[in-house]
Amino acid sequence: MQLPDYQTIRLSDYPTIRLPDYPTMRLTYDLPLHEIETLLQSWGEPAFRASQIWQGLYQHFYHSPDQFTNLPTSLRARLSENLQFTALSPISQLISRDHKTVKTLFKLHDGQAIESVLMRYAARNSQPATRNSQSPTRTTLCISTQVGCAMGCVFCATGQMGFKRNLSSGEIVAQVMYYARALQTSEFFENSEVCKVTNIVVMGMGEPFHNYENTMAAIDRLNDPQGYNFGARRFTISTVGLVPAIRRFAREKRQVNLAISLHAADDALRSSMLPVNKKYPIDELLAACRDYAAATGRRVTFEWALIREVNDTPEQARLLAKRLKGLLCHVNVIPLNPTTGYSGQATTRQRAEAFRDVLTQAGIPCTIRLRRGIDIQAGCGQLIGLVSGGNIG
Ligand code: SF4
Repeated sequence: MQLPDYQTIRLSDYPTIRLPDYPTMRLTYDLPLHEIETLLQSWGEPAFRASQIWQGLYQHFYHSPDQFTNLPTSLRARLSENLQFTALSPISQLISRDHKTVKTLFKLHDGQAIESVLMRYAARNSQPATRNSQSPTRTTLCISTQVGCAMGCVFCATGQMGFKRNLSSGEIVAQVMYYARALQTSEFFENSEVCKVTNIVVMGMGEPFHNYENTMAAIDRLNDPQGYNFGARRFTISTVGLVPAIRRFAREKRQVNLAISLHAADDALRSSMLPVNKKYPIDELLAACRDYAAATGRRVTFEWALIREVNDTPEQARLLAKRLKGLLCHVNVIPLNPTTGYSGQATTRQRAEAFRDVLTQAGIPCTIRLRRGIDIQAGCGQLIGLVSGGNIG
């Protein structure tokens, strides 16, 4: 793999783990607690053993039966024979020059690859986090839900790769457990005591609503109070706008935050950037968002990658303000993360500020977000594309 010199590269602290080519055993992270209870019951084990396994997995982040020293040796052996504890093998890990972004490329059991990115921010209304500061921080983990993506957004490295397969719920959960474990035992960041995952954004590779069941099952598993206990309100799911799934999400009244990748305020432009818009045009999408906000009382976040002289114009900002009027929402604008397969360029600071000002003057809250990890290919799908286009064999 050829990477530019300026990147800080650290190979994983974890040895590459041999994953079975064709998993014949179920992955522990794929099992909800009640299925572990049923399995152990069928082995004649007392019910409390299932809770011990659950706590080992989600509170101590064990990833091998040998680590469950509170279980009898015979049960550990049986677990080892019947369940797969490892879903991911880290292949490479990159840390940004400012030591605030860590990106990991993982290999899956079938040779496919996915990425997850950890980003540290200063908490809102606090001084920026520095390498040695004690200021409160948010540590946000961005996870993947699919290998590749079928949505084909033109500016996205994952979209350029095409769709390979859905991740199982356990493969989604495993990304979070990997980072939870790594933050406990190693120092990605120098001020490591403040580095617990505080927010999870489902914005990595793939369209999470195209893998709805597994994504929600993963969130439910991570949310379990007897396990990892990660609050539902600290998750954000980002969708490109699959309207039926947004309506389902609204009906389920989940506490998880909803973000929509909007990127354009008229159908012609949006369809040229996001093919899904031909199926679910902006009016239909925003109607679903209004119904979602009305049904749940929750704010919708709109994501907008600012591309110079494409969608960063005052006309787009004015049209967007008009379309969002009266909707409980927030707009996040972020300069485009460049990809090799798309010629569009990131906007300038001045144009981003002008865009934001049009929105805020129209009463639409808008924030300019930082681009993170440009030097480590932190846009989704960028690292994997750099390696080999998806399958790392
Ligand atoms: S931006 Fe998201 S939905 Fe669009 S192709 Fe990329 S991963 Fe898929």
